[in-house]
Amino acid sequence: MATVFTKIAKGEIPSWKVAENEDFYAFLDINPLAEGHTLVIPKHVEDDYIFHLDDEVYLGLCAFAKKVAVALKAAVPCKRVGVAVLGMEVPHTHIHLVPLNTEADLDFRRQKLQLPSERFAEIAESILKEYEKL
Ligand code: AMP
Repeated sequence: MATVFTKIAKGEIPSWKVAENEDFYAFLDINPLAEGHTLVIPKHVEDDYIFHLDDEVYLGLCAFAKKVAVALKAAVPCKRVGVAVLGMEVPHTHIHLVPLNTEADLDFRRQKLQLPSERFAEIAESILKEYEKL
């Protein structure tokens, strides 16, 4: 059965898209640690552990995530974009990109932000706009 993230990449489940190419997809995390918290996934490989990916998919995912991080930092001012891979919840490889101003911003035990859908839409649109400039 397809994972929830495969369904998102296919448009069968809605998401706030921030970037896409033929093989990879990026969208806002629905329980963000910070505004702009983004998930980056391979579209055609669901493996639940990033270090099981073959080198081509792994390197492609990392290169795509780098480009998304550049767009994210341009759209959501922050000191750095932090990177995390957990995979404790969704069994489909994904990289978290989180705008950081302090080390504590990458603490996944923190209470997540509650944002209205209009705000998610605004943030996603601004990241997508920056991504399209790259
Ligand atoms: P983990 O697998 O531990 O990296 O956590 C999965 C992440 O996916 C969590 O941060 C969730 O908030 C996020 N998530 C789960 N379902 C969705 C969804 N439908 N749209 C966006 N983000 C999601």
